[in-house]
Amino acid sequence: MRQKRIIIGNWKMAPKSLREARAVFQNIRSIAGKLQRVQTVVCAPYVFLSELKKVTKGHRCVLGAQDVSLERDNPHTGEVSVDMIKAVGAQYVIVGHSERRAKGETSEEVAQKAGLATKKGLIAVVCVGESDRDDEGRYTLFVKKQLLTSLEKVTQGNLNNVIVAYEPVWAIGSKAKREAALEDIQEMAIFVRKVLIDAFGEKKGAAIPVLYGGSVNPKNTTLYLKGSDIDGFLVGRVSLKPAGFEKILRAANE
Ligand code: PEP
Repeated sequence: MRQKRIIIGNWKMAPKSLREARAVFQNIRSIAGKLQRVQTVVCAPYVFLSELKKVTKGHRCVLGAQDVSLERDNPHTGEVSVDMIKAVGAQYVIVGHSERRAKGETSEEVAQKAGLATKKGLIAVVCVGESDRDDEGRYTLFVKKQLLTSLEKVTQGNLNNVIVAYEPVWAIGSKAKREAALEDIQEMAIFVRKVLIDAFGEKKGAAIPVLYGGSVNPKNTTLYLKGSDIDGFLVGRVSLKPAGFEKILRAANE
């Protein structure tokens, strides 16, 4: 196991007000600040980042964005660049989340975002995952292709700025078909790591953290962490519920 587990909260398009965002964040921050074995990251909507930055303290709980433009320079109305994300003090960025891929984002576009973000020193949380499973294991080939394409613009030297989040779409969000079984997660943790090692070599490939995301909650956290080789979680809904998120963070610290 790595020295620290990584727990990333993805707030998506919530909460509705800055006041609430501040309250939830301060709650998380005060717990996360005490946990030595967990790196906590809160990926908040862009509009809240600079305000939340004002109440961050130390390095145990830091900020991330949920997406980034693949463009470097103007004019691109409505886009937010890597430089802007860095300017408000966020250190991480999610790229290729399934909710963005569902809107048409391709792995080639994810690759450009990951390449740019990692080059400029942000940590790119590259999301991959199949929509459905099949009995022949074709989903593994789908994930392999998605992963390798999404990483093709990250240079060898910037691989230390990459985290992979395996998030099977069928297990994400309130419309999830089911929670993943431990075996589903362990199988893909091993598979994703093998793909990374085959592509980038034993040292660099194995050093890339692999997270799991999809309906992670206080009840399945310990099982998933103890029974598999994942390095942490990308948490959606529960990351906005301080009591539930606290349980996940504390379990990860054990
Ligand atoms: C996510 O959106 O990345 C996610 C994992 O959501 P949830 O935890 O709500 O399933």
